[in-house]
Amino acid sequence: MFDFLDMIILGIECTAHTFGVGIVSNGKILSNVKDMYKPKKGGIIPMDSAKHHREVSEIVYQQALQESGVNEKDIKGIAISNAPGLAPCLIEGLKFAKKKADELGVKLIPVNHCVAHLEIGQSVGAKDPVLLYASGANTQVIAFAEGKYRVFGETLDSGIGNFIDTFARHLGIAFPGGPEIEKLARKGKYIELPYSIKGMDVSFSGMQTKLKQLYDLGTKKEDLSYSMQEHAFAMLIEAAERALAHTGKKELVLGGGVACNSRLQEMAKIMCKERKAKYFCPERPLLVDNAAMIAFTGELMIKGNKKLFQDAEKVDITPRERTDDVVVNWR
Ligand code: AMP
Ligand code: MG
Repeated sequence: MFDFLDMIILGIECTAHTFGVGIVSNGKILSNVKDMYKPKKGGIIPMDSAKHHREVSEIVYQQALQESGVNEKDIKGIAISNAPGLAPCLIEGLKFAKKKADELGVKLIPVNHCVAHLEIGQSVGAKDPVLLYASGANTQVIAFAEGKYRVFGETLDSGIGNFIDTFARHLGIAFPGGPEIEKLARKGKYIELPYSIKGMDVSFSGMQTKLKQLYDLGTKKEDLSYSMQEHAFAMLIEAAERALAHTGKKELVLGGGVACNSRLQEMAKIMCKERKAKYFCPERPLLVDNAAMIAFTGELMIKGNKKLFQDAEKVDITPRERTDDVVVNWR
């Protein structure tokens, strides 16, 4: 089906709750399969999530191959999300990637997960965007500037999704709480809450405390949910807008599970319209943690620099690699 000149890259996502396998050829996504670990109660337990990855990896891999129509032997390289994330999950993913690389006789391409959320914006038409990355564990405003992916703003405490999930848990809502909070918010009215943005960085702990206090005093869930969204999302949009202003870039891309929220999307659209920037929001399967974005970014890297193919045994996990630690030698 594919000419031998076609670049076929298989990507693996494993950094947190999601184990995914995606296949990309010349920027085209051929398959994007995932399986998500869901804790029975409370938040993610890293060892349990790693066990989940181990159990589903082969099934997810086979399904991704099947859906893509690609012959396994035509795969030219395996892109693996080796950073940042939960160490046990990264180890499990890398182990699987090494096994497959060995079986297929191909090399690995280590990919930073946050960078992949930014780069997948290209699949929906962005060229040089600012990324508002709003996920469970990560909250960052990132853009490529002067040779590096720069973090223009980020959370000083919890990721926005974890913040929302913790608040939801206090209200008796199971993980992931975001979608349920969004529903409640539609029926709520505005209450003033702490709005905390310091320079370009945001912080949620003050708002969390206030929300819990108000709930324990009898304030309605709907009003708290609505007001939480209005404040927390406005903080993110404010940081994203300043990054656009500072860099002079004209495109905004959303990424991360919280970006599924229609109120956050609406605020982002309004801000972009006001400053004549283009707004891009990938479809949900590419917005949340997924392996197609890892394959897509891996392919971009390899097209830019063939030397980025690495022998499997040389690749390690870097759980705490920051977006601005990434050495960019492919653009
Ligand atoms: P991720 O870490 O990128 O997979 O995203 C997971 C996070 O997204 C969890 O914290 C969810 O609660 C959150 N989330 C998913 N859908 C929504 C939504 N509609 N509104 C707000 N948060 C959401
Ligand atoms: Mg993510």
